[in-house]
Amino acid sequence: MQLIDSHAHLTNKALSVQVDDVMQRSHDAGVSHVITIGCDASDSKACVRLAKSRSDVYCSIGVHPHEAGKVADGDFDKLAALADEACVVAIGELGLDYHYDFSDRDSQMRVLNMQLAWAKELDYPLVIHCREAYDDTEAALIEHGFKDRPLVFHCFTGTEAEAGRIAANGWRISFTGIVTFKGSTELQAIARAYPDEHLMMETDSPYLSPTPVRHVRPNEPAHVAHTARFLAELRGVPFEVLAAQATRNTRAFFRLP
Ligand SMILES: [Zn+2]
Repeated sequence: MQLIDSHAHLTNKALSVQVDDVMQRSHDAGVSHVITIGCDASDSKACVRLAKSRSDVYCSIGVHPHEAGKVADGDFDKLAALADEACVVAIGELGLDYHYDFSDRDSQMRVLNMQLAWAKELDYPLVIHCREAYDDTEAALIEHGFKDRPLVFHCFTGTEAEAGRIAANGWRISFTGIVTFKGSTELQAIARAYPDEHLMMETDSPYLSPTPVRHVRPNEPAHVAHTARFLAELRGVPFEVLAAQATRNTRAFFRLP
């Protein structure tokens, strides 16, 4: 049995200070690889540095909407300089977050558009962060020509209608520990019906510890096994079958070597 955590933040201080132990516990839990996700230019650089130093870590590069208000001159040149590194497998996470609004919406939109214009020229899948901003996110993606290109709405928490529109645009969603929470009935219905050949899981660690380790902080990649186990039960398939399928999907989507 082998799993991949398709979205974690190993460069977050909660994990970066113990990354060797975190990865050892991942392997012990059957999680062979982790994709660590960049949140701004300097974090993306740290992700590349980490991924270059370990054969069990890949990374993405990009600017999170929370950081959009802090983008400085030259940040995009820094990102562009990282794009050819062999350990980079995606652009992201990028998108819009109207739930927290940590950056003002104009900055979020400007930084999203800049990244989409840049990413369009590159041959990478996109990792999208979208919270209570589906319409604007979809419109920007379509305007930049991303319909039917490889793109995942990570940590999807939207509605069934939004999940349907994502599928109609040829895009995917991926599931975090949120799907394991008792109150997540709509998300569980979406996960139950989600096509086998598109299923992917992630921790989004150090955040969002899944049930039954919901109160363990920080969350870490080993815990993606709990989400996989929950999804297997929800979908009525053996855990090993679901794990193998999700690993195949993740490898193909991110074109992991
Ligand atoms: Zn994330």
